[in-house]
Amino acid sequence: MRPIQMVDTKTQYHRIKSEVDQAVLEVLESSAFINGKPVQQFAEELASYLGVAHVIPCANGTDALQIAMMALGLQPGDEVITPSFTYIATTEVIALLRLTPVFVEVDPHTFCMDPDSLRKAITPKTKAIVPVHLYGHAAPMAELLRIANEHNLFVIEDNAQAIGCDYHFSDGRVAKTGTLGHIGCTSFYPSKNLGAYGDGGAIFTNDSALAERLRMIANHGQRQRYYHEIVGCNSRLDSVQAAILRIKLRHLDAYNEARRSVADFYDQAFATHPLVTTPFQAVYSKHVYHQYTLKLAAGVDRDGLVKYLADRSIPSMIYYPVPGHRQPMFAEFGSAEHSMPITDALTDVVISLPIHTEMDEEQKAYIANAVLEYLNK
Ligand SMILES: *Cc1c(COP(=O)(O)O)cnc(C)c1O
Repeated sequence: MRPIQMVDTKTQYHRIKSEVDQAVLEVLESSAFINGKPVQQFAEELASYLGVAHVIPCANGTDALQIAMMALGLQPGDEVITPSFTYIATTEVIALLRLTPVFVEVDPHTFCMDPDSLRKAITPKTKAIVPVHLYGHAAPMAELLRIANEHNLFVIEDNAQAIGCDYHFSDGRVAKTGTLGHIGCTSFYPSKNLGAYGDGGAIFTNDSALAERLRMIANHGQRQRYYHEIVGCNSRLDSVQAAILRIKLRHLDAYNEARRSVADFYDQAFATHPLVTTPFQAVYSKHVYHQYTLKLAAGVDRDGLVKYLADRSIPSMIYYPVPGHRQPMFAEFGSAEHSMPITDALTDVVISLPIHTEMDEEQKAYIANAVLEYLNK
């Protein structure tokens, strides 16, 4: 059997190698390493794929979130509401900009921002919310947008784990996650559903004025070279990454389909087992399974499962072992004193299994069997 990895970027590369190699060589030959043609081409192609007016490429997903928040004109002390149960980048940039992160609970089924918890957290200082489409499942955007609207809040979607995910509104309208709020952010970190061969990120918006501001901020606050209107930063997607991403974007739907088929296999294997809960899929979300995350029943020794799998050369991961509100980096906000029972409980029971576009039948069966063996011990 081929060795099992959480993600297999190498096999995936080998399937598109000739195309990618040629595109990379073209960039090298052009020597337009920064701001070369592929950057603009990729931005246009991604905009068209997502059905969004503007795509602003940048250096990584964390920058995308930071630039998004910088563009909204928030002031130090303004509150930004975000789930505690997310990757640190979502919340770190809030504190970095001297804004106040306010942590809310996630729904225990979807792992995404809980609308009731959001409502309770809103104060006169609240200026923005950052829903995260965690693990590839859409946050309940219709409801979150309604609440944001009522309170005049900006909505920044953290779409780093859900590129390609379809959101189904109750009136039948379908749109991609990341294009539903004021600004969407994504990452092209190699293991993401649309991964580059290095770092990369992008920001989406349908608002032309905001797009202009985002573009300026990502480029030292300038519209015209050497004329700096506002304080920005330096955040670029390079031409080599853009050339690679152009090719991989054409495969994105197939990649997400491949992930879904792995998830279907696991779902069936674990469906009736009383000691695990398989990922939930809400009617409004077409899951893209950035992660396949099980919840273990009370009493199942998670560390024991991790070790049992590791002993059989099966990697697994805990996303995330410490929720945001318990991170020492946020100590000044006193967030650890807030009671977040759902988030704390989830932190203790989640485990993510290998899922990627290159898994074969033998690997899937081997992993599922090992998990079931452990649970049945
Ligand atoms: C990966 C990720 C990011 C940050 O992306 P980088 O490109 O690593 O900076 C932000 N938010 C979430 C939810 C992520 O998974």
